[in-house]
Amino acid sequence: MSINIIIAGPRGKMGSEAVQMVNNEQSFDLVACLDRKNNGKIMKDLDGLPDLDVPIYEDPEQCFQEVDADVFIDLTVAEAGFEHTKLALLYNIRPVVGTSGFTSDQINALADTAITNNIGCIIAPNFAVGAVLMMQFAKTAAKYLPDVEIIEKHHDQKLDAPSGSAVKTADLIRETRESKRQGHPDEKETLKGARGAETDGIRIHSVRLPGLVAHQEVLFGGPGQTLTVKHDSYNRGSFMDGIKLSVIKVMQLKRLVYGLENILE
Ligand code: NAP
Repeated sequence: MSINIIIAGPRGKMGSEAVQMVNNEQSFDLVACLDRKNNGKIMKDLDGLPDLDVPIYEDPEQCFQEVDADVFIDLTVAEAGFEHTKLALLYNIRPVVGTSGFTSDQINALADTAITNNIGCIIAPNFAVGAVLMMQFAKTAAKYLPDVEIIEKHHDQKLDAPSGSAVKTADLIRETRESKRQGHPDEKETLKGARGAETDGIRIHSVRLPGLVAHQEVLFGGPGQTLTVKHDSYNRGSFMDGIKLSVIKVMQLKRLVYGLENILE
């Protein structure tokens, strides 16, 4: 049986990659797209997208009402993505969300809606399997080397900082690391922001440059030693295995799962 899928953000860098992935997967069917432009057109009218008769909708409610879908993939921006995801849950279409920048309150609200409606939802700040392993290794290391700084580097079109993956890494590290303030107790920034953002004493530094895709290093320091755990996504193909796996897994869920690591076996 094939899985019917709606994708939001099909003209975007992630969305267009997801369109290709879904189109190439035998057991997936792309049944519609949500796009804030191009209402009423079909995919083959749009430049750079496959030659498909897939309808494009601007209005999410109309899309979810008219299209018979199992899974909704959102790859847009936080504000729109949150509204799309909430609505998809209400229409019993299982969301797989890559869009970053949701607040914890928003994620909790979506988790409640998923439970109430008895439906699956997966939100992952990073769909690259290697990045998830990097976070898991960082969590293990933090138990023994609690002095840690995170450097995340992304392309200069990214809107949110720090990245969802960096925040998620800090959350995981906090599970094993004893809470502590790092650096010299009297350290002073002579240039504001020089020491990066701070969460529970952990420093997060965000680099934005053209040419980058998505990269993160987690640096640990202890007496006489450092350890670096590093992951690089060189192109957006790196995220597609995680999205594909999530589409399959979300069909069996009856609640919201946050983070790809929670569905990897
Ligand atoms: P992008 O190339 O800028 O694409 C964003 C898409 O969203 C575009 O099609 C854009 O349409 C659309 N959009 C923007 N504002 C919108 C709105 N208000 N309502 C509806 N659609 C809107 O960005 P991207 O690199 O593909 O990334 C998309 C999302 O995925 C971002 O949130 C990014 O942080 C996230 N991301 C997640 C992962 C992961 O593994 N979870 C990895 C990479 C990126 P217009 O062209 O009309 O603006």
